[in-house]
Amino acid sequence: MIPLRRNIAEMAGYVPGFQPRDEHRYIKLNTNENPYPPSPKVIEAILAEVGDNLRKYPDAASRAGCEQAARLYGFDPDWVIMANGSDEVLNNLIRAFASEGDEIAYVHPSYSYYSTLAEVQGARVRTFLLDEGWALKDFPARYAGKLFFLANPNAPLGFCYPQEFIEALAGRIDGVLVIDEAYADFARENSLDLVRRLPNVVVTRTFSKSYSLAGMRLGMAIARPEVIAALNKIRDHYNLDRLAQAACVAALADQDYFRQCVTRIRETRDWFSAELRVLGWEVIPSHGNFVFATPPDRDAKRIYDSLFERRILVRYFSDPILSHGLRISIGTREDMEKTLTALAEIG
Ligand SMILES: *Cc1c(COP(=O)(O)O)cnc(C)c1O
Repeated sequence: MIPLRRNIAEMAGYVPGFQPRDEHRYIKLNTNENPYPPSPKVIEAILAEVGDNLRKYPDAASRAGCEQAARLYGFDPDWVIMANGSDEVLNNLIRAFASEGDEIAYVHPSYSYYSTLAEVQGARVRTFLLDEGWALKDFPARYAGKLFFLANPNAPLGFCYPQEFIEALAGRIDGVLVIDEAYADFARENSLDLVRRLPNVVVTRTFSKSYSLAGMRLGMAIARPEVIAALNKIRDHYNLDRLAQAACVAALADQDYFRQCVTRIRETRDWFSAELRVLGWEVIPSHGNFVFATPPDRDAKRIYDSLFERRILVRYFSDPILSHGLRISIGTREDMEKTLTALAEIG
């Protein structure tokens, strides 16, 4: 036996959404990727970086990206850290705040990768269920865990928590409330103002969904300078390569393109949700670039399999709390028309 740490030996490891090898042969609606290409200015910026520059190390602190984000959101640059995907910064938050044996928590269902990251660290995980009246079941008057992760909008269900709920939650947590805003660009509100006002709130973002850059691995956190300074100690010192830094600055700079893409996806999402309801599906009103929807007979696995046969990939979760429905990413209008046609045929 190799002498692994016990938590590593015992953990299962995270299973990401299926990426087929021949992906161009599928309509791929299973990992919430953006169906539109990144801004042409992003491609230009990346290409300009390819060449002799690659000989040299990148800027360790990704300063140009941090400054661009800070300007865009109205913060000082020392409130921002760039990351190699928001997954990196989620990981480093756990490493910064949770020692072995400490507890972290999140709402179930949401992003189960928080569990994997905690297991690697040797931290304990607690999950809370949310009831109809915006109450977390069995949530203590004061929560003493080190970190609480709140995906807002929720993934995979797509709803948004009211800002008052989030603020009240932050007030009941001794540790840090991390608001994972992977999908906030598709929503009407976000919690950046809570970062300004409350000492224990951190917001994380990703470029993977709204900026069409899942393949580039770019994310960020916005938090008080003390938190950002701690995260800067922990990260790989060259966590963003030169291409990622060029992409980051150009993507944030091209807000016209960004807004166009986001608007199109929201419009397609709202139209697709209405069409699904016409077919008798139950659809949770979504604030992300996906919908969680339940077919009339609640046999989501059957529909998943039939769509798969037609080379349409969606996400099915076997967890009993989610197994009645499917999470369907919003693609182009054409992708969604084909999906509706397939669903009508499958019946
Ligand atoms: C996609 C996603 C992430 C990961 O984003 P990356 O920047 O691609 O690592 C984090 N949280 C949630 C809820 C997501 O859906």
